Amino acid sequence: MENNNSDNKSPQADSRHQKRFNWYWVYLVILLLLLIPNLFHSYSPVKEITWQEFEKSILSKKAVDHIEVVNNETAQVYIKKEFAGDPYFKEVMTPIFGKGVSDGPHFRFEIGSVDAFERKMDEVQKGFPATEKIPVTYIRRSNWLMDMLVWLIPVFLIIFLWQLLSRRLLTGGGIGGPSIFNFGKSTARLMNWENKSTITFDDVAGLEEAKVEVKEIVDFLKDPDSYTRLGAKIPKGMIIVGPPGTGKTLLVKAVAGEAGVPFFSISGSEFVEMFVGVGASRVRDLFRQAKEKVPCIVFIDEIDAVGRSRGRNALYSGANDERESTLNQLLTEMDGFSPNSGVIVLAATNRADMLDPALLRPGRFDRHIYLELPNLHERKAIFGVHMRPLVIDSSINLDFLASQTPGFSGADIANICNEAALIAARRKKDAIGRIDFLDAIDRVVAGLEKKSKIISPGEKEIIAYHEAGHAIVSWLLEKVDPVVKVSIIPRGKSLGAAWYLPEEKQLHSQSAFNERLCATLAGRAAEELIFGEVSSGALDDLEKVTKEAYMMVMYYGFNKKIGNLSFYDSTGQQNMGIQKPYSEETGRLIDEEVRQLVAGSYNKTLEILRNNKDSLVRIAGLLLEKEVIYKEDLEAVLGKRPEKRESEPAQDKKIITGIVPFNSMDHP
Ligand code: ATP
Repeated sequence: MENNNSDNKSPQADSRHQKRFNWYWVYLVILLLLLIPNLFHSYSPVKEITWQEFEKSILSKKAVDHIEVVNNETAQVYIKKEFAGDPYFKEVMTPIFGKGVSDGPHFRFEIGSVDAFERKMDEVQKGFPATEKIPVTYIRRSNWLMDMLVWLIPVFLIIFLWQLLSRRLLTGGGIGGPSIFNFGKSTARLMNWENKSTITFDDVAGLEEAKVEVKEIVDFLKDPDSYTRLGAKIPKGMIIVGPPGTGKTLLVKAVAGEAGVPFFSISGSEFVEMFVGVGASRVRDLFRQAKEKVPCIVFIDEIDAVGRSRGRNALYSGANDERESTLNQLLTEMDGFSPNSGVIVLAATNRADMLDPALLRPGRFDRHIYLELPNLHERKAIFGVHMRPLVIDSSINLDFLASQTPGFSGADIANICNEAALIAARRKKDAIGRIDFLDAIDRVVAGLEKKSKIISPGEKEIIAYHEAGHAIVSWLLEKVDPVVKVSIIPRGKSLGAAWYLPEEKQLHSQSAFNERLCATLAGRAAEELIFGEVSSGALDDLEKVTKEAYMMVMYYGFNKKIGNLSFYDSTGQQNMGIQKPYSEETGRLIDEEVRQLVAGSYNKTLEILRNNKDSLVRIAGLLLEKEVIYKEDLEAVLGKRPEKRESEPAQDKKIITGIVPFNSMDHP
């Protein structure tokens, strides 16, 4: 059997076997074995000695045959053959390989200088007959290998570095990366049939109006005839505007996924390089590629990076020229293709007000889709989409979760779902429960709990009174969002926090603004009332109060003296830092009115707290005892919350009023 097997081996197997055993190695080893003894037949080690040793042990015995001075540096001493038996010379005169006496040199020493060497030799040989004097020859020997290497190494190094650099520059250090030869090429990533977007409209929750608009594009790309037949022109470009995380990119990916057409995706910032002209050439290249692949979608994310209004801040923005020429090229390219050519440009931005009007005019980005933060129903739907892959238990109620997350974007909700899964996994649970979701919401809003943070009992007391102040004033003022939880466990940057549940309303009333100022100042007021002095912990509160007070006076026309004026600039064209839209006098008046507004709110807050000092002490005591208290605890101390006369708008997700540690003051 075995024989058969070996007979049956394929010729390839044989050749593989032969390759594995290389006979050249055997030849090389044999050659070395033969050569080495011959090469070193008469070689013996040369012993390094000093002049004193040379004089005492060698010269005195008259054993020196001759001396060679090499390169005027080293004296090499050759010993007469008859001294081979002398024990002192035996070691250096016995060859490493072979028999007999080695030819030498046998000893060597440094001579210092030729003059000194000759003087010493004359001295020790004084009175010797001429025939007995040691013959000294001077030779010059060069180490050709070393000399060659000294020249070759730098040359090889330069060649190696050149090769490395040119390869890097050619390939851009990786696939598709920038290189000197493809700088002007578009860096857009193409997702086509093989690599197409798998996202569909089912993955986009809510955004119903936006979906209707973009579905038209999908229909056109799938069946252009039904539109062109009637002479309709499909928009060339569509711009999607909305706050971060509201699903702009997701929507575009869904369009590409549904239409099943090639999809070029590029970020606006990728056009802008430090080299002049690169942006414009990338725009040209992007549209050239797109035209080769019609029908297709070109998606420019964060278009404000290139599309910002021309001439804006031109005084101090050096990058303007390059950005402007990129934008001009974009405008030209968008004019350059006909409406029904099959290239549809979609763009997304958070700042539509910054965009150049030329970009938004009909014929370019003529459709504008505005996305907003999701409302209650949309949040419920987004939770539904992101819970699909999760293992959840029966305690989860989508309505409840949606009601707990006003002001949250789709991205926040996606993040909460993932955080909840991580928290449940950390707790070694089989399914994600309601409490995991609530903890995830807290974590997303306020950051990670830092129980290990060292806080002295004195500081803890200040934090407790600060948070209790927020809780009481918010509870007692009707138009402030309801407090749901107060904690003095440090989280993220804050040392303590109060959670509010904003209602979703679209209008802000002046009195609601005023009450919110009081609630935000209540932490500091509580500190002053109880301890007689204030701490640095109100930084975050004061920042919010200052901004809001200026907004009330300057933007919303809430101040009688300023009147019904608003210095808000919705076009984003104005630069308040350089030129204020009001006179010096009005500026002073604004400052004065803001100061008075805040001072008035602070006094009102102090009064509320003074009238409820007992409750303040009790709630602070509760906080010190339990660290976290809920709405029910507040109700037990303060009684039922006054009915709301008017609903309040949802503040974005900054639903925390937190006391901050001193070291977190990263801005003045
Ligand atoms: P940015 O302006 O910061 O680029 P964006 O508006 O483009 O944000 P996306 O990248 O589209 O936001 O969304 C981020 C993530 O949020 C998505 O990957 C998705 O998981 C989730 N998300 C946002 N909106 C929705 C939605 N309507 N339905 C489902 N998921 C959503």
